[in-house]
Amino acid sequence: MASTICGWCGDRTHMTMLLDPYQLPRQLWERTPHLNAPDTVRSVYMSVFRCSNEQCTRLSVGLAALDVGRQSGTTKEQMAEAQIQWEPAKIHRPDFPDVPPEIASTASEAHACLSIGAARAAVALARAVVEATAKAKGIATHGIVGKIDALRDGGTISALTADASHQIRKDGNSIAHGDIGDEPISADDAEAILEFMDVLLDEVFQRPAKLQRLKERHAERKQPKASGGQVPSQLAGGVPMT
Ligand SMILES: [Zn+2]
Repeated sequence: MASTICGWCGDRTHMTMLLDPYQLPRQLWERTPHLNAPDTVRSVYMSVFRCSNEQCTRLSVGLAALDVGRQSGTTKEQMAEAQIQWEPAKIHRPDFPDVPPEIASTASEAHACLSIGAARAAVALARAVVEATAKAKGIATHGIVGKIDALRDGGTISALTADASHQIRKDGNSIAHGDIGDEPISADDAEAILEFMDVLLDEVFQRPAKLQRLKERHAERKQPKASGGQVPSQLAGGVPMT
C-alpha cells in the first residue's frame, strides 16, 4: 500500500499511482540514495502519485527498487507493495515537551530519519533513546536489559511498555551489531518502533510532568486570595469543597 506522509501537505495519506512504473536506465540504479550498494538484481522503477487528501491532491514522485524477475505480479502491483522513496519528502521532527533536551532531540532525529526512509537509522536512534531514558531516571544498572527491567520494576513504566522497549532494544541491537540480515527492517516496523518509543517518553516524562502541572494549578486554585477579592456572601463560612 503506497501510504506515506505527503511531502506537500504533511498528512499521512494514500498515494494513488497515476502512471505505470517505468524502469530507469541501468546507470542510475546504483546512484539511488536508499540503496546501500550497487544493485544489479533489482532494477529501479519510478512513478507518479497523487495525494488522496482532497485539500492537497498534489503530485509526488516515487522511486523503488524492484526484483521483477523474482517477485510475482505486475510492476504496478510490486511498486504498490515496495518501499518507496518519495520526492518531495516531508521531514517530520516532532517536539517532545518535558523530555530532557538531549533525549528529545535524539527522538526527534529518529523521526526525521524515518521521514526520509532511513528505517535502520531510526531504529538505532530509538534504541539509544530507550537507554538514555533509563539513565536519565538515575538507573545505573549495567546493560540495557537490566535498565529496562529496572524501569518496570520501579513502577516507572508498565509491563507492556517494558516489553515494547525490549523489542526496540533487540531490533536496535541487530543494526548496531551489524547483524542486519538479508531483509532490511521495513518502514512499517520502524514506524511501530518509533510509536513505542514515543509511548515510553510519554510514560516516563511527559505524562508525569502534565499531571504535576495539573496538581499545581489545582493547589493554586485552593489557595486563599492573597489580597483584596471580596468573598461572595454565599460562600463565606460555607462548607469547603473538596
Ligand atoms: Zn498531500
